[in-house]
Formats: sequence, structure tokens, C-alpha cells
Amino acid sequence: MEHQVRRLGGISRLVGDYRPAPRLYKLTPVIDSARLHLPDFVPGSVWLVGAGPGDPGLLSALALHAIDHADWVVYDALVDPRIIELARGNATLESAGKRGGRPSPSQPDISARLVRLAQDGNRVLRLKGGDPCVFGRGGEEALALAAAHIPFRIVPGITAGIGGLAYAGIPVTHRDIASAVTFVTGHERGGAVPESLDWGAIAKGSPVIVLYMALNHLGRIAARLIEAGRRRDEPVAIISKATTEAQRVLVSSLEEAAACAQAAQLEAPTIIVVGEVVRLRAALDWLKQQP
Ligand code: SAH
Repeated sequence: MEHQVRRLGGISRLVGDYRPAPRLYKLTPVIDSARLHLPDFVPGSVWLVGAGPGDPGLLSALALHAIDHADWVVYDALVDPRIIELARGNATLESAGKRGGRPSPSQPDISARLVRLAQDGNRVLRLKGGDPCVFGRGGEEALALAAAHIPFRIVPGITAGIGGLAYAGIPVTHRDIASAVTFVTGHERGGAVPESLDWGAIAKGSPVIVLYMALNHLGRIAARLIEAGRRRDEPVAIISKATTEAQRVLVSSLEEAAACAQAAQLEAPTIIVVGEVVRLRAALDWLKQQP
């Protein structure tokens, strides 16, 4: 009989015939790395890998290869649990996000941890939501690895600001409507609206504005964009839990988006897009048509 390992809530379980010590049970690899000529994941190295916005189907072949071979997986809170469950039965899974109300480890702590795990000879998979280098601090971690002379690789992932929009039937650009897009964080280090950004220039220069981590400040951001000349009735889409089964999409206007989001009690994470491309969703909501 075929055996499958499922890990639920951090506990390994076998589905099928009972076997003790399921963590020692090695899964068959998810992909055929040799056929794809994928590079070796060398012990003592770190791979910074983007896990995409949620749907495991959006993982790259290199990401699956890394998951198949990692000894140690250090994952962020945003990584979908279905992806973490793909790791080998004997891999160590470590959360770098908030756990049980305890504060999340600081960025220098995480970087130092990666260096240490690699120095101990592990194949270290640093798994991040979306793309590791889009508001994901992948750059900071890579700099720490480079400074410590740890070999590393960056595996891009599908960022929420592109993949999440696609799952809502919103192309991030369109030749006739929008030929430029700006990715913006709505949240500064301390949590405030980023003051260092030139909101006026963004409003004038970018027909599409994609906002990460912006739900809490949406009202203020929208006011600045309107002040800088964007139309009050310009369409805005807010996509909650994009690409997961719990995805919800709310379409509104720049003026009303913040109040609508609050009334709808949209849950984090949310990606927000401002621009005429949002109107294309009316014709392109492909997800709704799935059997
Ligand atoms: N590196 C990630 C972004 C990390 S910042 C990426 O490339 O996607 C975290 C923010 O990303 C969240 O606050 C939210 O704005 C956005 N985000 C990430 N995953 C998301 C998802 N599945 N649905 C909606 N927004 C998401």
C-alpha cells in the first residue's frame, strides 16, 4: 500500500498503514530534479526561496527542488502551510514568524541564524512568501550571507502584487490602459505611512499603483493620491488572501476603499491595486468560472 506523510499542526502523521517515527520517513521527491538539470543544493549553503502568494501550484521547479533537498527549513508566517508540508520527513521546520503570541525574531537574529545553520553543514532553505526580494528582506539576508562567505542562491517567487492580481482577474499592466506600475509599501519600519515616499510623484507618474502592507493606512494613502490629482472614483481592488481558497476581492473607488474594506472586515494579508486595470476584472474573473 502507498504511504503518504501528512504533517498537520507541526505533527507528522502517516496516512495509510501505521508506522512509528513518521519524521524519519522520507517522501518521494516532488519533482525530478535531474531531468530539469537543476543545480545541487550543497550542504553548508542557503537558498533564499520565494514560495509565491499561497497556491502551491505557483511554486517554481527550483523551489520544489529546494524543498525536496533541504535539511532545515526556516519559513515566514506568510508561507502557505500546504507548502511547508511538502518538506522531507526528516527536515527540521523552523518558523521565523510570530509564534503563540511571542514576538517574531529580529531581522539580525534571523540572518545570524541562517549563517549558523549553514556553518553547521546544513542545506538551509529560507522560505519566504511571494518573492524574497519584494518587501521580503531577502536583500538583507543575502547581504549577511555574503558578508559571512556563505554560498547562497536566490530563487525568485511570484510576488503577491502580480500573482495575487492575476488571480483576481486583474492584469497588472495593459497596453492600452497602463504602461507603468509602481510597487509601494504602505507601511514603514515603525508602522507609519512611509514619509520618505514622494506620493505626489507616484500619483502623477504611475497609472497602476500596487500597495503592499497598506490596509491600515489606506484612507490616508488614498487621500494623498487624491490630493495629488488622482480621481476620487478611480477603481481600487483589495485582494485578501490572494491565490488561497479563502481569497476575497473587493472592488471600490479610491475615495471609498478604506471604509468599504473596514465594513467588509477583510482579513490580512491584503494586496491593493489602484488603477484603471481594475475594471478589466469584470470580464476577466477567470477564477469564478472554474468548475
Ligand atoms: N515578499 C512578499 C511580500 C511580503 S510583504 C511578496 O513578494 O509577495 C507582506 C505583504 O505582502 C502583505 O502585507 C500583503 O500586502 C502582501 N501579500 C503577501 N501575500 C499575500 C496574499 N496571499 N494575498 C494578499 N496579499 C499578500
